[in-house]
Amino acid sequence: MTLYPASPRDISSFAKRLRNGEVVAIPTETVYGLAADATQADAVAAIYSIKERPQFNPLICHIASLRMAKQYGVFNETANKLAKEFWPGALTLVVPRKDNCKISELASAGLHSLALRCPSHPIAAEILRLAKRPLAAPSANPSGRLSPTRPEDVRRTLPNIDVLDGGYCEVGVESTIIGCLGDMAVYLRAGGISRGDIEACLGEPLTDVPTEKGDAARLAPGRLVRHYAPHVPLHINCTQVKEDMLLLGFGADAPADVADNLSETGDLCEATANLFACLHKLDLQAQAENKHIGVMPIPHHGLGEAINDRLSRAAEAVDK
Ligand code: AMP
Ligand code: MG
Repeated sequence: MTLYPASPRDISSFAKRLRNGEVVAIPTETVYGLAADATQADAVAAIYSIKERPQFNPLICHIASLRMAKQYGVFNETANKLAKEFWPGALTLVVPRKDNCKISELASAGLHSLALRCPSHPIAAEILRLAKRPLAAPSANPSGRLSPTRPEDVRRTLPNIDVLDGGYCEVGVESTIIGCLGDMAVYLRAGGISRGDIEACLGEPLTDVPTEKGDAARLAPGRLVRHYAPHVPLHINCTQVKEDMLLLGFGADAPADVADNLSETGDLCEATANLFACLHKLDLQAQAENKHIGVMPIPHHGLGEAINDRLSRAAEAVDK
């Protein structure tokens, strides 16, 4: 694979390649995406195959504007309100597919709904503008593994994919996902926009995903999949450095001998932006030194909810 600087020529050539049905990696403000034209079933199928992603796990489709989103999905009052407030940005809305929706059904994994997001990253926005197509773009990593927030992480884990270099991702975790399929707005995944900010916009609390397994599988298919796993065991809520462990710290109270610190000032935005890059680095070091990774407790408010969601899945994935 090659890493391309994001010159105007490269951006326009990537847009052209996407229109031709190729799969390439592009930067977004959340994490790097493995992108393909969402209207071409073969291109969408190639994303599943490159990631080895289970086909019941639908993909988020990226669009250039709310106007473009409405060509494919049905927006109720809640969806309109959220899109107007948070787009472009780290929010995905799950809405019903329009009858004549041209997005491949494979991208929806056969569901009657569609996940749509308008990214704010200037390179992603420019590619969408030039490609004039919705782009399916899950994180550019093998399914189940850590997401990439740096071009070098894409290069290492998906060596055959060409990457457009947009530097480090500013938000650093995936988008927050809200279901807008009926009367209630359902909180499907914690992500780059906090629950509090969304509830403040709506003026009412979000509904949680029902705990009954069948409903959860239908409403939030990705929840059941193994996720965010480093190659070594990861433990959460650790406070001390142990001999066989690299400790990832948070805040000013971290012990002096931590391997790294997500944010020395305890800033949750900074910690979110650093999360996957730190985990990639510690994963490589821990594999080389035959150690585990420990992570200090992260407060559960604001973006801390998204960090704790990813960490607890990483911990679960390895313990099993
Ligand atoms: P990612 O793995 O970051 O690409 O996020 C994809 C996630 O979006 C999936 O795992 C689902 O949880 C969610 N998603 C995508 N499409 C839908 C849909 N049509 N209905 C419900 N959730 C969806
Ligand atoms: Mg992912």
